[in-house]
Amino acid sequence: MTMRASVLRRDKNVALHEALRLIASSNTSVVEPSISFSTGVIYPIIVKVAAQYGISESEVLEELNRLGVFEKEPHETLVSCPNCNSIRLFSKLHCPGCGSDNLMKTLILTHATCGGLNVLEEAEKTPNCTKCGKPLHETKVIGTLYQCRNCGARFEAPLPAWRCADCRLSFDYKQNRYMTIYRYKVNKDKIQTAEKQLLVSLALEGFADLGLKVASAPQVKGKSGYFHSVDLALTGGLTPLYVDIVPDSPRALGEALSSIAKTTDLDGEHIIFIPKTLEKSVASAPGGNVLFYENARDLLQKTIQLQEKLKVKKR
Ligand SMILES: [Zn+2]
Ligand SMILES: [Zn+2]
Ligand SMILES: [Zn+2]
Repeated sequence: MTMRASVLRRDKNVALHEALRLIASSNTSVVEPSISFSTGVIYPIIVKVAAQYGISESEVLEELNRLGVFEKEPHETLVSCPNCNSIRLFSKLHCPGCGSDNLMKTLILTHATCGGLNVLEEAEKTPNCTKCGKPLHETKVIGTLYQCRNCGARFEAPLPAWRCADCRLSFDYKQNRYMTIYRYKVNKDKIQTAEKQLLVSLALEGFADLGLKVASAPQVKGKSGYFHSVDLALTGGLTPLYVDIVPDSPRALGEALSSIAKTTDLDGEHIIFIPKTLEKSVASAPGGNVLFYENARDLLQKTIQLQEKLKVKKR
């Protein structure tokens, strides 16, 4: 992987984690689009994060969907421009005969008093009946027709077409794009797992330059003979390095404490990442192996700093 691609993937994972935090902390149950002429289709809850990291909102949502965080459902289907994908469109109607958009809409009315049939332009005001000649007051609408001013044809169903307000392209219903907009139902019990997955992969990238052998979620035999599960084991260095990452959640304190409890039994260095919000609750824990992280970016930076220290030790 190139340097640039790896940096991009880091950024993406940081952005995904931040988006998840926003969804979790706002207790959002459905991530819904907001659709307007001025903004197009946006997902308000993640619009800022996506912009900040230069990732499209749909990419953020699709990646989170792949992590199992959502159930994706069609929300609305819209016509969009085949050239620029804009949904800012002017609606047009065309003659099926000659293609002209110079149409008038007419109403077919019966005159209640004489039963006479009249065809009127919609805008016309109470003319006289073509049968009895009296003013058309009491009438019943029995249908609508379009009439083409160009070729004179009359028809019930004109052809829909559009003109793009952004790139000005005119196109018809055969050329348009038809775009399904989705909403994303949140699987709340999947958020924590997904957050952990993202943080673990960020930590892995942070430690990548050490060139150690990495195992994800291995069982590690402690000094007591008891096996512990850790999130990452990096071996092949001077001493094995074990890493646990506690994602932010209502269960985080319990997880942090049970992770700290493993340290004395593990034969190697044990690093535990704990959300900064718990700094006061676990401050008195023994050992200097606890690192408090503010967010995914902070966790990545702390792993990189740790890596630099370990590199120096290795020499
Ligand atoms: Zn026509
Ligand atoms: Zn009449
Ligand atoms: Zn366009």
